[in-house]
Amino acid sequence: MINGKQYVERIDALNNEVWIAGEKCTGKISELAPFKGIVKSKAALYEYQCKEENEELFRYALPHLKEAYGFSYHQPKRIKDLSNRRKATQEWARLNAGLMGRSPDYMNTLLMTLGVAAPHFAEDREAFGDNIKRLYEKARTEDLSITHTFINPQVNRSIGQYFDDSTITAAKVVEEKKEGIVIHGARLLATQGGLTDELLVLPAGGHTIDDSYIFGFMIPSNTKGLKFLCRESFCYSDSKFDHPLGSQFEEIDSIVVFDQVLVPWECVFIYKNIQTVAGMEDATGMYTFLQFQSVCRQVVKLEYTLGLCELMGDAIQIQEYEHVKQKMSEIITTLEIMKALLLASEVNSHLNQYGTLVPDSQPLKAASQYFPAVYPRIIEIIQLLGASGLISIPTEKDFNSDIQEDLAQYLQGANIEAKERVQLFRMAWDLGMSAFGSRQTQFERFFFGDPVRLAAVHYNRYYTQPYVDMVEAFLNKVGE
Ligand SMILES: Cc1cc2nc3c(=O)[nH]c(=O)nc-3n(C[C@H](O)[C@H](O)[C@H](O)COP(=O)(O)OP(=O)(O)OC[C@H]3O[C@@H](n4cnc5c(N)ncnc54)[C@H](O)[C@@H]3O)c2cc1C
Repeated sequence: MINGKQYVERIDALNNEVWIAGEKCTGKISELAPFKGIVKSKAALYEYQCKEENEELFRYALPHLKEAYGFSYHQPKRIKDLSNRRKATQEWARLNAGLMGRSPDYMNTLLMTLGVAAPHFAEDREAFGDNIKRLYEKARTEDLSITHTFINPQVNRSIGQYFDDSTITAAKVVEEKKEGIVIHGARLLATQGGLTDELLVLPAGGHTIDDSYIFGFMIPSNTKGLKFLCRESFCYSDSKFDHPLGSQFEEIDSIVVFDQVLVPWECVFIYKNIQTVAGMEDATGMYTFLQFQSVCRQVVKLEYTLGLCELMGDAIQIQEYEHVKQKMSEIITTLEIMKALLLASEVNSHLNQYGTLVPDSQPLKAASQYFPAVYPRIIEIIQLLGASGLISIPTEKDFNSDIQEDLAQYLQGANIEAKERVQLFRMAWDLGMSAFGSRQTQFERFFFGDPVRLAAVHYNRYYTQPYVDMVEAFLNKVGE
């Protein structure tokens, strides 16, 4: 396991090609304004896992291996492993209020599910099984961090898009060489692109028309020809007072451009085989594990939201009003539903063919439908409770200026001093109203895929027959 310093040194040394605000980043990325907050927050996670008192929860050792590894690279085999995974995921998430959607355990978990299911990839070519196993073991040994891109650019989403190849901008295989495959085109939307050691790429679609879109590989983020084009940063300043969340947890999202990137064969584990892709979830449980990690994090986010709203209510003494209680109850209900779904997935887990204890996918799918729909309402509750308090938020500079006495007098709360009250409401503003907060809402809606299509998959794969039988039996009895 690496510590914070090792993570920062490694990311700086990679010298990834990252573009932001019209410029190519040069020098240490950990020291550049748009990135330093998130790099520091990620480093804090690595630092935390290395603390002696956290050893039991965060590391595991395999009997046949000398070294210990991070929890998210561990293949769960018993219920205790899953509950340990949940506790460690949530303890990490508590260090960032559940706001770091792409903490390292997200992708490490995915790689684990693929690596331990190596025979699935070997069914196509033996080397692909060896490759994914080796990539997993290397990442586990070196405690690598990974970002990913699973989506094609949003140029044309019409049903017929793939019939006209001239408009296709999505990354595809343009050449096959002895040393590897050459990829050209773009992909969306690598959160933390350029801030991780490696990039994991899985098929995004289009495979029914053209198999040049079917590939899965993992390459170092500094591979020649790989570019990360970042959106504008929502980290508006270093001040934790002014931007308590954005200054620390702004992750940055990037478009990934593959400019004739040569991907060595050793890094490839899926290639032009639709069967490998179609059977991937059943063989690995990859999406189920990603949902498990996400729900763990979302529970923590709700815990923080509840605490925040309780403190805001107390600061201006509004808790006695019925509608405020009802709104608080909505947050509590959401929290309890999410916790229950998470635990249900753990309790009803099953061993798959590769010996991995996979959580029950149904409660997690339900959570993945429920949370994106309810999260905007939770944010609305913050806005409704905070009212003008989310607007009367002077900055740290104001509190150090000649107007400080006015601020102290007129912005105090019922039982809290002005500066403390403003700090609290600034946190609520940063979660519910700032650019950082709006991006969080968009993230929760979409990070796992388009909710509309996910709902269709949810329905299509749900086994409704027992309930149909039940109703038919009932109707038969009525007719007797
Ligand atoms: C903040 C943020 C961070 C993200 N981070 C990552 C990341 O790290 N890695 C990654 O790979 N991805 C990431 N994503 C991308 C995410 O996976 C996609 O946003 C999601 O899959 C939806 O795809 P899209 O954005 O291309 O929307 P689109 O597919 O373009 O959809 C746009 C609209 O059209 C509708 N639509 C489009 N096609 C269809 C169809 N066939 N049937 C019905 N309706 C359709 C959709 O319902 C939606 O309303 C991130 C997204 C966000 C917002």
